[in-house]
Amino acid sequence: MPCKLCLERGKTWNGDDPRCAFETGVFSPDNWNCATMNALRDISRKMRTTYRDDMEAASIGYVPFEDGYVVMTWYKDRGRTGNAFIAYDDEPIRELTEADALLAIEQNR
Ligand SMILES: [Zn+2]
Repeated sequence: MPCKLCLERGKTWNGDDPRCAFETGVFSPDNWNCATMNALRDISRKMRTTYRDDMEAASIGYVPFEDGYVVMTWYKDRGRTGNAFIAYDDEPIRELTEADALLAIEQNR
């Protein structure tokens, strides 16, 4: 089932259907135009916590989350987010759940 924000948004364009990143509740790299991932990427863009490299490593961005960060990678302005996870300085990295993603959006409004 698509995430809450994908359900709220629906499909607002012609063309390919969105593929939610949180169909299972945990981030999947098989996504396109997921409303939750778009919201997190918009926040990192507004916070200027992104770095763009179209030639090699693609783009990376982060938003603060609790005592750590939601870290994301993507290519150009395309709708797929290739990776997303939670990184802490003093704990192992953790997969990104929809619940954590929504909390990160809430914390950075
Ligand atoms: Zn979604």
